[in-house]
Amino acid sequence: MHLPESCWRQACELAPIFNELVDRVSLDGDFLQDSLSKTKKVDDFTSRLLEIHRKMMEINKEENIRLGLHRSDYMLDSETGSLLQIELNTISASFPGLGSLVSELHRTLINQYGKLFCLDSKRIPGNAASSRFAEALARAWHEFNVDSAVIMMIVQPEERNMYDQYWLAKHLKESHGITTIRKTLSEVEAEGHVLPDGTLIIDGRTVSLVYFRAGYTPNDYPSEAEWNARLLIEQSSAVKCPSISYHLVGTKKIQQELAKPNILERFLENKEQIAKICKCFAGLWSLDDEEIVKSAIQNPELFVLKPQREGGGNNIYGLDVRETLIKLQKEGGDALAAYILMQRIFPKASLANLVRGGACHEALTISELGIYGAYLRNKDKVLMNDQSGYLMRTKVSSSDEGGVAAGFAVLDSLYLTDK
Ligand code: ADP
Ligand code: MG
Repeated sequence: MHLPESCWRQACELAPIFNELVDRVSLDGDFLQDSLSKTKKVDDFTSRLLEIHRKMMEINKEENIRLGLHRSDYMLDSETGSLLQIELNTISASFPGLGSLVSELHRTLINQYGKLFCLDSKRIPGNAASSRFAEALARAWHEFNVDSAVIMMIVQPEERNMYDQYWLAKHLKESHGITTIRKTLSEVEAEGHVLPDGTLIIDGRTVSLVYFRAGYTPNDYPSEAEWNARLLIEQSSAVKCPSISYHLVGTKKIQQELAKPNILERFLENKEQIAKICKCFAGLWSLDDEEIVKSAIQNPELFVLKPQREGGGNNIYGLDVRETLIKLQKEGGDALAAYILMQRIFPKASLANLVRGGACHEALTISELGIYGAYLRNKDKVLMNDQSGYLMRTKVSSSDEGGVAAGFAVLDSLYLTDK
């Protein structure tokens, strides 16, 4: 998909700022608890996450080594030409592995056949997402400083996106000599324990780092066993990517709270950085705001209604926005607090060839750019804070949702243009 180079630069510049912001917000436990207090009453999943977070606050749990592997997603609004943030993922940001392979494939194809289409492979930015994420994981492993320790990747029992994950594990083994083990949350509950000094042990091995590629949806917690495992991990001294605090910072409710006037100023000092972040915020509203709820009922096509969920397929669009809002209003109480409202972004559609399951078809499409960011610190020392590659997802323009694994979009590359 084509993107003006200026937008690409803007998105890259934002990555380290968002990384730092996540870290700062994560340290303000009261802000997280207060902002999510109403959501908690009506959303059981958020409530369980907050309960673990509160327990950690009560014992003054400190995470000295903090690793964030984030992805900030954007769409280019066609009317204003501005790059607007869709969401910030702080848990299980997917496709660093396969996304970088697709960029490489596109560069190779354009090198071979590009002249026929007047395309230049240099206009596809290099995408080192998988090696950069592996490097961040490896550096966190080094900070933990136990040579025999493994990295534990938390996965879903029936994982569909495993090759993306294996690609990272391959980099960890081949470039850094680090072993990754894969466990579901229920396996952690059955096989894991924490020693009195905080060491997390699985199958008799020390785990230095827990990398979550599951645990972001209620479906990943079908019983108490999975919640016990999440708590056990959080209580341990292993590095968590993400910690419960980082996870909560990535919720849609916190995204909306951060977009309120004068909130960013609580976490960042640099005015230029604050201005850069504000510039990419779309309209975001809590449903406490009666005026906005009224106008969303009147013009539902201009809004997206979002619950506190991740992983695609959960948002509400079009006339369903009106219907749902009216229903929630009737329910009364705090029912509305389970959702946020967001300005609907309309990217420009363009023709593209989509390949899925080996079949190719041409369609009008829109794209979403994700910028990966890696952040690592140990106490006061920031060891990494970088833009770490990108993910381009393209979908038929008639589809509202955008996930690749969820079946809505395909992986794509970026082609930079002058304008
Ligand atoms: P999830 O956590 O499920 O990925 P997102 O906020 O990323 O939730 O929304 C899922 C998809 O819905 C996005 O990938 C995008 O395609 C579409 N979407 C989300 N917000 C908007 C918006 N404000 N305007 C237009 N499309 C949106
Ligand atoms: Mg998303």
